[in-house]
Amino acid sequence: MRIAVLGNPGNQSQRVATELKQRLLASGHTLDERQPELVISVGGDGTLLNSFHRYNHQLDQVRFIGVHTGHLGFYTDWRDYELPELVQSINEDQGQSVSYPLLSVAVDYQDQEEPSHFLSLNESTIRRNALTIKTDIYIRDELFESFRGDGICVATPTGSTAYSKSLGGAVLHPRLEALQMTEIASINNRVFRTLSSPIVIAPDEWITIKASSAADYTLTVDQMSSHNRSIKQIRYSIAQERIRFAKYRHMHFWSRVEDAFLGNAQQERRLTHGI
Ligand code: NAP
Repeated sequence: MRIAVLGNPGNQSQRVATELKQRLLASGHTLDERQPELVISVGGDGTLLNSFHRYNHQLDQVRFIGVHTGHLGFYTDWRDYELPELVQSINEDQGQSVSYPLLSVAVDYQDQEEPSHFLSLNESTIRRNALTIKTDIYIRDELFESFRGDGICVATPTGSTAYSKSLGGAVLHPRLEALQMTEIASINNRVFRTLSSPIVIAPDEWITIKASSAADYTLTVDQMSSHNRSIKQIRYSIAQERIRFAKYRHMHFWSRVEDAFLGNAQQERRLTHGI
């Protein structure tokens, strides 16, 4: 198989990436960063986000695997001490995969005729640093609310355990075809009124954010951000493309959530209360 191994710059990730490459070569695979069939990211969920953006123009040909050099992640199924088992699974690969929805972000800028398109694995936000943003928010082209506050976040189900969760969003099972919008510090008074709860929209719906004409908004798409361009509107919808992960073993999503967010605290409670 043609495989790209991408590690983050940390020493541990680089060491694990080197060992993994050697093991893959010894098993007869080819290392190919241009046209890989399999992309293995070594680091954390953040490293997998980077790998996704590097190959997001060839998603129909590529499956992803994440190796975590710390704890297990939401995109990272394998730990760094499991390289022999991982390589064995790749040797026995039969093309099995699981796919998850992505967020399509279409941005109309004041100074550009055609919209710019981006794909997001976690979320996209529109924010402003010191000042508040004023936007009208439409669902399916119908005005839903007028927002004033720090910003808006729209997340995929897999992104629901990242920034969206810190904003009070619900954790969504990644098999759901849905998008979640959360507010970032909305102002609610007699003049500005928003729902003030996260909302989850259906697969055939879309969210449009029409910004007032300030030039200093920050638009983020996962770990990337752009500043100081005047944005007319942003249209968020579920993308046609999906991300595919090579799935060699099953891990219950809610076990992963428990492990990541409750972990020892939960275990301690069980021990203390005998439950
Ligand atoms: P990063 O190091 O790539 O990620 C920041 C943290 O978020 C890391 O601990 C990372 O886990 C974790 N993470 C990433 N995707 C996740 C997911 N789907 N579920 C659960 N945890 C996830 O940092 P970055 O390059 O600055 O930004 C990338 C991401 O950071 C954004 O997409 C956003 O979700 C998140 N972010 C969060 C906040 C917040 O919670 N207040 C604010 C801004 C940005 P690993 O340690 O496994 O890499």
